[in-house]
Amino acid sequence: MSESNKNIKRLGIMGGTFDPIHYGHLVTAEEARGRFNLDKVVFVPSGKPPHKKGYRVTEARHRYLMTILAVATNPYFEVSRVEIDRSGYSYTVDTVNQFYEHFDDVELYFITGADAILEILTWKNVEELLSKTNFIAATRPGIELTQLDEVVKKLPVPAYDVIHPLEVPAMAISSTDIRSRVAEKRSIKYLLPEAVEHYIYKNRLYVED
Ligand code: NAP
Repeated sequence: MSESNKNIKRLGIMGGTFDPIHYGHLVTAEEARGRFNLDKVVFVPSGKPPHKKGYRVTEARHRYLMTILAVATNPYFEVSRVEIDRSGYSYTVDTVNQFYEHFDDVELYFITGADAILEILTWKNVEELLSKTNFIAATRPGIELTQLDEVVKKLPVPAYDVIHPLEVPAMAISSTDIRSRVAEKRSIKYLLPEAVEHYIYKNRLYVED
């Protein structure tokens, strides 16, 4: 554990495929940091997402580098390779356990999209996960949260106090839309950091979507 990690008491883990990362993700992480008083937010691009077996996901090295470019200007943000470097599918429970090995006495907040958290009952070792981690579920404004309530009721442990919805206006931006725009030669300006935009064009990502 590095010296700087010793003072971390409340840590956000920003989990996602980030294909590509965009301002919706960045605003979500910054909003979560402020609202939940997090000392740092570590972005963890997924290596091999277990729920995307039938989909084409961009190579991990590209998603990782785009994430690095995107967080460069925020001193509270970092990027971790834990899921990219781990072999096999990327399960959140394994990631959380790896973070506990590196940080002493830390409280973890796993931040991701509410749509992803709606599927949490299918995640590996959900009971263990809920007992170890808080969840921040990012939603777009106006989205009904009743679905999330229904999921919470079915969880094996009482989870009202560990799953926190967070409304983020910028989540109107989506990675799927950005990939389609690139494929259709439409502009993606102002949807994501300029450095990420240039990276996408330089590496000819999403052109065949
Ligand atoms: P996804 O199914 O691609 O995304 C679902 C929705 O959530 C999309 O609207 C997506 O928007 C949004 N989203 C994704 N990550 C977000 C973030 N960090 N902040 C705000 N919104 C976000 O989800 P995914 O990205 O593949 O997976 C999300 C996280 O859940 C990952 O860390 C993944 O490893 C974890 N997960 C774990 C398991 C398991 O342990 N078994 C199973 C499934 C997912 P965009 O498309 O614009 O990003």
